[in-house]
Amino acid sequence: MRRSLEGLLLEAAGTPHESIEDVMSWSGSLALDRRDPLRKYREAFAIPLSGAIAPDTDRGGDAHGADGAMPENGAVAAVAGGGEAVYLCGNSLGLQPRRARERVLQHLEQWSQLGVVGHFQGGEPWMPIEDRAIDAGGADIVGALPVEVVYMNTLTVNLHLMMIAFYQPTSQRYRILMEADAFPSDRYAVTSHVACRGLDPDDALVFLRPAAGSSGHYRIEDIEACIREHASDVALILLPGVHYLTGQVLPMEHIVRAARAASPDVRVGFDLAHAVGNVPLRLHDWGPDFACWCSYKYLNGGPGAVAGCFVHERHAHRTGADGVPRFSGWWANRRESRFRMLPVQELAAGAVGFQLSNPPVLSLMPVIASLELIRDAGGMQALRRKSVLLTGYLELLLRRRLADQLRVLTPSDRDERGCQLSLQLTGVLALAEVHTRLLRHGVVCDVREPDVLRVAPVPLYNTFADAHRFCDVLEAVLVALRAPDAKK
Ligand SMILES: *Cc1c(COP(=O)(O)O)cnc(C)c1O
Repeated sequence: MRRSLEGLLLEAAGTPHESIEDVMSWSGSLALDRRDPLRKYREAFAIPLSGAIAPDTDRGGDAHGADGAMPENGAVAAVAGGGEAVYLCGNSLGLQPRRARERVLQHLEQWSQLGVVGHFQGGEPWMPIEDRAIDAGGADIVGALPVEVVYMNTLTVNLHLMMIAFYQPTSQRYRILMEADAFPSDRYAVTSHVACRGLDPDDALVFLRPAAGSSGHYRIEDIEACIREHASDVALILLPGVHYLTGQVLPMEHIVRAARAASPDVRVGFDLAHAVGNVPLRLHDWGPDFACWCSYKYLNGGPGAVAGCFVHERHAHRTGADGVPRFSGWWANRRESRFRMLPVQELAAGAVGFQLSNPPVLSLMPVIASLELIRDAGGMQALRRKSVLLTGYLELLLRRRLADQLRVLTPSDRDERGCQLSLQLTGVLALAEVHTRLLRHGVVCDVREPDVLRVAPVPLYNTFADAHRFCDVLEAVLVALRAPDAKK
């Protein structure tokens, strides 16, 4: 039987913590941090200072003020004093691994000293940069074979490239099934793609919706029913691994199985922007046709970092001639003959065969640095172990202290969520003002109008103390804003 979260937290805090109350206290959080096996990895990241992220960072006034609302445990003072921020925004942009700078500088150095010779050390092309990302764990992180993954372009570009390859509409089967509340960029990408392929988006897109009464979550039976309903007209199912707004992990394995049961002609692609580096994935075993992810959220690769792309092994040796058409360029060529520039291309097997250009080395370097760090830390299993505790801890704290102020939109079952919690604030509040005040108190998270805060404690660099500091600040901010005389 599965252990309760409280049981896991008690065990993680160790003796002498005897009750969950002990563990949920400020000193309990410090004990959890002391005993955290990933503890040292926080130092591998640059943590922004609260004084830098909001120049007018509160250093003791505001919510501490007249109403005396600020809890007196020292945590808030530590944030407001200009120390390390409480950074809960890894779902939007992961923090910088310190070794990213080193890796980028190494490459600038190689370029400055060797010019093009740096590309061909000893007369042989040095390990192609795309292989270095795989070597650093870029395929392991999604549970894929090396041949199935390539780092290239950015997420939205890769979505288009994958749709060129795997969306093959016929007069009968031409629809794309996606979630109704998709990330807007994905919706724009799919809509524009369908239109460019000569179809009417109003007809060609069909939407999966959360059933009434499901709190905005997608249930397996509803997904399966929707796939069955469209078994004869859907060409491609494109769904997220983790939903960006609710933080729900979708049942990827079931989705692929339902698609295969519906028809061998239905292709499946996953957008893993919020899943990669967040939850363990087994893409090869689950068997979608393709998947795309960006590298700047939980992969900490930096803004606009080179993105990842998965193409299942079953397509590794297929070409345009046998049904996997593609846009191509010289980097899709077999490595052995790439620089011979043959008149007819020799396509590389696997995901590499979808590359167009030589990769932007500088923006790939931080991705490699970060992948190495995740591998050093023990990979996704190790991250996940802490993540379950850390997010569970934050949720317990919020439920104990702020239950009347907010509702947790993210599924409470830990198997159905990653690290993110989406918090819906109750009552009418100016969300932008909440956001500003949190920032002024050194808390970085993001907001979705009209009333949702998204907080993502990341196991590699967030602490159990961060969870307390966040609750303290949020409580103080909400109490101050809800006070009858709060300034509008
Ligand atoms: C972050 C994110 C994107 C971003 O796309 P880019 O091409 O990297 O700018 C797209 N889709 C989803 C679902 C995302 O979460």
